[in-house]
Amino acid sequence: MELDAALGLIADVPDFPEPGVLFRDLSPLFASGPGFRAVADALAGTLSPEVELLAAVEARGFVLAAAVGYARGLGVVLVRKPGKLPSVAGRVDYALEYGTASLELPEDVVAPGAHVAVVDDVLATGGTVNAACELLEKAGAVVSGVSVVLELAALGGRAVLEGREVHALRTV
Ligand code: 5GP
Repeated sequence: MELDAALGLIADVPDFPEPGVLFRDLSPLFASGPGFRAVADALAGTLSPEVELLAAVEARGFVLAAAVGYARGLGVVLVRKPGKLPSVAGRVDYALEYGTASLELPEDVVAPGAHVAVVDDVLATGGTVNAACELLEKAGAVVSGVSVVLELAALGGRAVLEGREVHALRTV
């Protein structure tokens, strides 16, 4: 499937999870074999050659990073919501488009100096991906880019990630 057609499978859901929020639902894209492959291949194509490891943000980032990692022969470190990891290298609290959240990095998984790319589904305010980048850098990693399927430009995530290499398959 062409990338454009694959991205066309993303559904716009008004007033979710709160009135006034237009939620982009990737469920139909994930459920399409050809669509999912097109997006995973396109994300794989955004990675710089020096990337050694992918960092995936819970939960939709896990799905994408697993496919991209498989395609490129790269492993995935799972950046998790609190309370899931037995041993934590670090934790960052941050603001979301709707609410607040925290992310944790597993201990002893990211080697100091490792070149890591962050993968997630949607870049909105940038708080989530920025938190993931901070966690990785606190662990001594080098963040070698951020790859997302969809960037919501009006929410300003790219400015929050200023100085980082941000790849979005589609910007709306
Ligand atoms: P941010 O921290 O950039 O404001 O929000 C990005 C995070 O929230 C991502 O992990 C993403 O999964 C989720 N998110 C925010 N807005 C949307 C949306 O419209 N659709 C989807 N699927 N996820 C969203």
